[in-house]
Amino acid sequence: MPAIRSRNLKIAAAGIGLLLLIGAFVLLRDNARTISGRQLDVLMQKQLIRNVVRRDPYLYVRTDRMLYRIPVEGADLKRLARRYPVTVESSSSPWIAVTVLLLLLLAGGGVLVVRRRRFAPAQREDAGSLQSSRAPIESAEAVRPIRSDVRFRDVAGIEEVKEDLSEIIDFLRHPGRYRSLDIRLPKGVLLVGPPGVGKTYVAKAVAGEARVPFFYQSGANIVEIYVGMGARRVHELFQAAKRTAPSIIFIDEIDAVGRHRGAAGNEEREATLNQLLTEMDGFESSSGVIVMAATNRIEMLDEALLRPGRFDRRIHISLPDRREREEILSLYLRQKPHEADLEALARATVGFSAAALSTLVNEAALHAFRAGRKALTDEDFDAVRERVISGKRKILSYSDEERAIQAVYQSGKALAATWLGVPYEKIGLVTTRLKEVDREISSRSQLLNRLKVLLAGQAATRLVYAERYSNAAEDLARARAEARALIEELGMSESIVPRADEAEALLRELDEEMTLMMKKLEGARRAIEAQLLARENIREEEARAILRDLF
Ligand code: ADP
Repeated sequence: MPAIRSRNLKIAAAGIGLLLLIGAFVLLRDNARTISGRQLDVLMQKQLIRNVVRRDPYLYVRTDRMLYRIPVEGADLKRLARRYPVTVESSSSPWIAVTVLLLLLLAGGGVLVVRRRRFAPAQREDAGSLQSSRAPIESAEAVRPIRSDVRFRDVAGIEEVKEDLSEIIDFLRHPGRYRSLDIRLPKGVLLVGPPGVGKTYVAKAVAGEARVPFFYQSGANIVEIYVGMGARRVHELFQAAKRTAPSIIFIDEIDAVGRHRGAAGNEEREATLNQLLTEMDGFESSSGVIVMAATNRIEMLDEALLRPGRFDRRIHISLPDRREREEILSLYLRQKPHEADLEALARATVGFSAAALSTLVNEAALHAFRAGRKALTDEDFDAVRERVISGKRKILSYSDEERAIQAVYQSGKALAATWLGVPYEKIGLVTTRLKEVDREISSRSQLLNRLKVLLAGQAATRLVYAERYSNAAEDLARARAEARALIEELGMSESIVPRADEAEALLRELDEEMTLMMKKLEGARRAIEAQLLARENIREEEARAILRDLF
């Protein structure tokens, strides 16, 4: 009997000890999932973060449903702190130590008995957290749309883009009307352009204007976060969007998923891409779901994505020109008292994207605030401009000398395009918008003319400065690729079996021709250059008028 009682006592003690241990474990364990800097960016972008606590060595980020952590050195603290107050907690707060001590003492008796099991839960937890760090950042059922409150009036510049998208808004508002007339709309719209020009923003504005749910996914996110379940995620995304139709799916950085198949193959990515293609084929445009996607590298995309019935509507967004920058700046400064000369500021910010301008205005406002000024002045903008440029390494920004070189270069291209009748919308210091050729059959001379335009810029700078510059690199690479395609694929070689050096010979010949043109039409090129320096852009009609006046 006493033996039994003492055994019962032991079991009871062990039980209590175990309970206390589990209690301590639950209280003290860090059940946050570890995420990467990139995943943190996603959370910020999706505006899911509710609060941020720093308890070294981690930063804890809480969303409505989850707790994540990221090593402090892996997070962009400054950026985070700008948006959210970061509470700092000491990593070993005294009450934790006291609780640990108390629980350990109480658990003392039981510990002996359960010693062997003691680490089991911890091990399991380790394995669990390892797995969970690869698991979806917001669990699978969290394919949730946001209600966008961005409107077209919040989007400055890019008027043509807005115009292009207005039909889609109308369709999303009244899908029934389109259905009854059996009008097909594109299922997929691809927004192409460099980072920060507002691809995501304008897509959100479409959702906001049409008042439809907006499903955001980033391609990189699907590939990196949903490891092993990209295809399923895509499927769920489409299911959810169809359920709440009319709606918009927006896939940011689609190139992360939609790179050429076969190119540096990755089965996981291919499966995801195939799923995306299947989903896009599997619904009718009349179902009221519009898929929008963004990329800055359309040439990287798998052709299958660009076929009819998929992303067959393409909208290019380039860096804002001077007038657009002025509009963007005045939009951002609408609510801020300022005495800045916006026209001069727009002129001084060649190469800034809308996102960069937004940072510039914020930093300038901070600068004014620190200096105790109520209104922003030119001085504030001057003080932070360099910092913004170096902080956002991607900003193309020209010194006066570089502007001059670029003006010569682009004037050469504008001249050649106008003279040779290669259609373009406008050519500016930062962008060349040749019109897309949309025909099945192109003539050799049409294709050669496009090649000449690509070579004309360098011909102009060589003549003016007797020097070559790196700004030609992109055009030259394109010229090389197009010349090769022309000879090897389009059957436009002089010989039936193309020789290896044929592209080189062709380009040389065209280059000489352009050098000659730049010499002969020097006056016209200078007039175009002057307009580029003064107004940053030239439209085809304007260049044509210059040529007409001279001849
Ligand atoms: P992208 O998707 O092209 O990389 P985003 O749409 O994410 O660029 O733009 C980043 C931020 O820049 C937006 O959140 C918005 O605040 C601002 N922005 C971008 N384009 C515009 C614009 N045209 N007008 C006003 N603000 C803009």
